[in-house]
Amino acid sequence: MDVQAIRNDFPILQRKMSGRPLAYLDNGATALKPQCVIDAVTKYYTYLGANAHRGDYEMSAQVDAAFEGARKTAQKFINAKYTEEVAFTSGSTQALNEVALMVTEQMLHEGDVILTDESEHASSYLPWLQAGKKAGTKIEFIPLDEEGKITISNFKKALHDKVKVVAVAQVSNVLGQMAPIKEMAELCHERGILLVVDGAQSAPHMKVDVQDLDVDFFALSAHKLCGPTGIGILYGKKKYMDALEPVFYGGESNARFDRSGSLILKDAPLKFESGTQPIEGAIGMAAAMKYLESIGMDEIHAHEVELKHYFLDQVSDMDNLILYNKNAESGICTFNVMDQGKQIPSQDLASYLNTQGIAVRSGTHCAKMLPDVLHTFATVRASFYLYNTKEEADRLAEALRTVTLEKCIDIFF
Ligand code: PMP
Repeated sequence: MDVQAIRNDFPILQRKMSGRPLAYLDNGATALKPQCVIDAVTKYYTYLGANAHRGDYEMSAQVDAAFEGARKTAQKFINAKYTEEVAFTSGSTQALNEVALMVTEQMLHEGDVILTDESEHASSYLPWLQAGKKAGTKIEFIPLDEEGKITISNFKKALHDKVKVVAVAQVSNVLGQMAPIKEMAELCHERGILLVVDGAQSAPHMKVDVQDLDVDFFALSAHKLCGPTGIGILYGKKKYMDALEPVFYGGESNARFDRSGSLILKDAPLKFESGTQPIEGAIGMAAAMKYLESIGMDEIHAHEVELKHYFLDQVSDMDNLILYNKNAESGICTFNVMDQGKQIPSQDLASYLNTQGIAVRSGTHCAKMLPDVLHTFATVRASFYLYNTKEEADRLAEALRTVTLEKCIDIFF
C-alpha cells in the first residue's frame, strides 16, 4: 500500500492543527474524505441536481441511474445477494433504530429477550431498550471477558429459550474488539434467533461479506468509510425486508393510497425510503466504497493493525501508560496516562495532544456501560486508518512520553 500516494488523495491532510501538521487519529469518530468523494458530491450539485425517482426528464433519469448505481455499489461492498436487501438510511443510528422498532413491534412478544453486551455503542443498545419499554421485551447482557471481548463460550452460556434477538457490534468502538459474528450467527440460527450487527466500526476497516457472515441485519455509516455524513445502509435479509412494515411513511415509499384508508407500499427497499433521500450522500458513499476497494480492504486492515503494533512497540517501555486493548486486532488504541500516581483526565490529555497537532477522542465514546468493565470512566482513543503513518504514531508516542499533569493544566491557564 502506497500510503504517501493515498495521503495525496486527501486534501485536508494539507491543513495544520495548532500550527503543526495534522495527525488525524480520530478515525473511529469519522474519517477524512478523498478528493474523489468530494468530486462525486460536487458533481451531483454541479451537473445533476434533480430529485431521484420522480422526474421524466433527462437530468432526473441521470440522477436515478447514479442513485441506484450507488445502491448496487453498496450491495457489492457488503456482498448482499439482492438489491432489495439494501436500504439507504441517514447512518448506522437510523438503521439500528429502524430494525429495533420494526422487529420489536412486528416480530417480538412480551417477555422476549434481546441479548447484547456492555461494550455496545448507544446506537446499538438504546433503540432496543426504548422499543422494549413499550413492548415488554427485556435486555440481557453477554458477559465480556477481561479484555472486553465476546467469547463463544460466554455467548453460548447467555443463550436460552427466551432470547429472540442478538444485537452486537462486529467491532467495538471503544476497544476495537471483534465479535465472532460468523460463529454467533450459526448458534443464533440453530435456535431461530435474529442476529443484528452494528457494522459502523467494521465495514470501514475490513472486508464484510454479509452472506458469508450470515447476519440477518447489518448497519453501516458512510462517513466512517471516507464518505459523506448523513448517509448509511440498512442491510436486511430479503425475507425480512419483504415482510417488515417500515417505520416511516411518506412520499415515494408508497404505490397507492386513498381516502378509504387503504395503503399499498412499494416493494423493498423503496418502502423503507420515504421522503427525499440524501442523493449526493449516496453518490458520495459509492465513490468512497469504490475508492476503498481500489486500495483493498484486506490491505487497509493490515496497515491499521501494523500501525497499532508499531505504536505499541514505541510505548512498550512506558510504565505509566495504561493500555486497555493491546490484543484487539484493529487500528484502535485505547489508553490513559498516569503522572505522579494520578491518572491524567482523558479530556485534558486529548487537549494536550491537540497542542501537538494530534486529533484523538476522549471520554466514554458513547459506550457508557463499558466503564464497569474497564474500571475507569473515561479513556483516550487513537484510531488509525489507511492514510496514517508510522511518523504519526511516533508523534503520538513522543507526546505521551513527555506529557505531564502540569503541562495539561498549563493549556487552560
Ligand atoms: N455504532 C458504533 C459502534 C459507532 O462507533 C457509531 C459511531 N460512533 C455508531 C454506531 C453510530 O454511527 P452514526 O453516528 O454514524 O449513526
